[in-house]
Amino acid sequence: MEVTLAKALGTCFGVQDAIDEAMSPEFKNSLTIVGQLVHNPQVVEKLKNNGVLLINGIEDIDKIKTKNVMITAHGAADVVKNKLKERGFTVFDASCPLVIRVHKAIKRMVLDGYFPVVIGRGKHVEVKGIVGDLDEFYTIEDEEDIQGLVNLNKSKIGIVSQTTNQTEKTISLIDKIKLACKDADVLFKNTICKPTRDRQIAVDEITDVTDILIVVGGKNSSNTKKLKSVGDHKKVPSYHIESFKEINPDWFINKTHCGITAGTSTPHEVIQKVFDKIKEISSLISQK
Ligand code: SF4
Repeated sequence: MEVTLAKALGTCFGVQDAIDEAMSPEFKNSLTIVGQLVHNPQVVEKLKNNGVLLINGIEDIDKIKTKNVMITAHGAADVVKNKLKERGFTVFDASCPLVIRVHKAIKRMVLDGYFPVVIGRGKHVEVKGIVGDLDEFYTIEDEEDIQGLVNLNKSKIGIVSQTTNQTEKTISLIDKIKLACKDADVLFKNTICKPTRDRQIAVDEITDVTDILIVVGGKNSSNTKKLKSVGDHKKVPSYHIESFKEINPDWFINKTHCGITAGTSTPHEVIQKVFDKIKEISSLISQK
């Protein structure tokens, strides 16, 4: 069985920069990260081993015991950063520049008179950061949310996207919004980030030639789930795992070509272990 890694996979620069900063020796035992830095259990474990403390979000501000706090790559609203500063914490902002770009885009739209809408999951930390400084907004995750926007009866609608959205689904939602709000001026800025798009394109390509797909990443990582959905959509048996330990050799029986992809917060050493394990299984199968 052939085993191929997708052309683009694993940790993106935004997440990697944030991890590197959090792991720097100056922060050992003196840093609290506000919100999950990455949706990946191995990385979270590594951070905890380095003495980094983690809290779920600003609602846990009273639990912070360190002077230094870090905003994650997912970003945060100014109101959150200011609250931390007001409480006397030194704030290190590891927001990804591509998330900051979304914050700026939506604020620009509001200044230009557009009603702000985000295509994304309202409960996701990135979306909370995008809308956190806005007086009013609307979020759309699925088609059924569109009617709520229609009911608001806005004449100018400005839309951005969560950075990790699936491109096709987002474009399809935009088309449906334009149709449903046909009397409104609908402005869309596609803010899906390049690393996410590269991983989506790469998984699409690899599933053209493979008959099994392994997707590596945290079970709560939305962009990892979206990579798996590409495999599902193309009817390639697809398995979402966090570590090589979850691999079941039976998955590979009668398979000829295995593709591997991984979400934007999956470290390369985790992917390498998955690759090695599948190669091992492949050689065992060929010896039978
Ligand atoms: S997924 Fe995209 S926006 Fe999010 S941290 Fe990575 S590069 Fe930045």
